[in-house]
Amino acid sequence: MGARVVRTLSFPVGELPAPLLGLLAEFRLIVNRSVRVALREDIRSRSRLSKAAYAGISAEHAVYKQYIPSAFEVALGALKVYRRRVRKGKQSSIPFLRRLMLKAENQSYRLDRETGRLRVPIRGTEGVQLQLPMSEWHRSFLRDPSWKLGSLTVVPGKVLLAVRKETPRPYELTSVVALDTNEDSLDGAIASGDVARLVTVSFSGVRRVQMTHFRRRRYLARRKAHDRRVRRRLLRRDGRRESYRVRQRLHRVSKPLVASAKERQAAIVLEDLTLHGSGGRSRKMNRRLSSWPRREIHRQIEYKAALAGVPVIKVNPAWTSKTCPVCGARRRDRVGKVFVCLMCDWEMDRQINAGLNILKTALASNEALARAVRFQPGALRHDVVIPLYDLPAREGAREEPSGVESQVGIIVSPDL
Ligand SMILES: [Zn+2]
Repeated sequence: MGARVVRTLSFPVGELPAPLLGLLAEFRLIVNRSVRVALREDIRSRSRLSKAAYAGISAEHAVYKQYIPSAFEVALGALKVYRRRVRKGKQSSIPFLRRLMLKAENQSYRLDRETGRLRVPIRGTEGVQLQLPMSEWHRSFLRDPSWKLGSLTVVPGKVLLAVRKETPRPYELTSVVALDTNEDSLDGAIASGDVARLVTVSFSGVRRVQMTHFRRRRYLARRKAHDRRVRRRLLRRDGRRESYRVRQRLHRVSKPLVASAKERQAAIVLEDLTLHGSGGRSRKMNRRLSSWPRREIHRQIEYKAALAGVPVIKVNPAWTSKTCPVCGARRRDRVGKVFVCLMCDWEMDRQINAGLNILKTALASNEALARAVRFQPGALRHDVVIPLYDLPAREGAREEPSGVESQVGIIVSPDL
């Protein structure tokens, strides 16, 4: 089974025409009414909700009929979240949609993928036309027929279009890249057959960008201390700029990384950042300043890998930075910049060392990988660390459009 990647394209559309705004208001009413019915009659499925509410809603709300099941979907989704919170004993109020919105499935709207002309039916034969502003980035999806159109969400000022793609089957593995994720680099090894190399991938200045913005925000906070509103606005704007700049730099890393893995028919092994390691890692992980780019680079690698059919394997990061990959001994004290084993005199840069352990863990738990690669970390003792690939100068800098959020990626990891 391949995987499926979903991306959401965002189009700023300015003020919506009045009939469309009216439709959004109707849709909100229908969703809230559906929530009440589903809650009252303890309904969890769309077909049961349809039986209980469709006729009444259809008679009282003059909207294009296909929107009613979409509203059921939105209502049941909100109720699912609500019921889960209630079950866990968390405080939660009954879902109520405040924001104007419309959700339409792909058979309800019509989009000209070349021109960006969008037709949204209102009721009967009545409909509105919208022109979606198409950037080169949007076109790269809409001109590629392997991206299928998914649901459309309209909110005031914005149209969100989901596109999805079935990804290729993962290939036969012949090698593996295992990388430890650090503040400013990915470090580890690439192994193929019984040959291995120590490799590193630099984040091309992410740390520096973060430091610059960190200092600027501290300065802003001090200078605008007297005006809370202005300060908040400035800080938020600076935060947005920072995450944009960091994201761009990470795209310059994730793209060639995935490409070089594909070229070598390699699996990519990363640590699972959702698990907290017990090896003294969580303090580092909790430092928000450094943890966001690490999660972001994983997100980028995962969806690009899924699109390219490159398998990604996640391993538990516990003890990766405190274990000797040669003899398996662990250090319980703080490890400095260089990991030194007290049992077998193995010495290695701490970050690379963690990458080697990640590789070992993956080989121990994945049969396909173990068949393709035999790994002897001891042989790497005196090897130099090489870049995994040559960084392109500034190529790929404009990977995502500026100021447009398009990050709602849902990723199903490919089966191995
Ligand atoms: Zn050792």
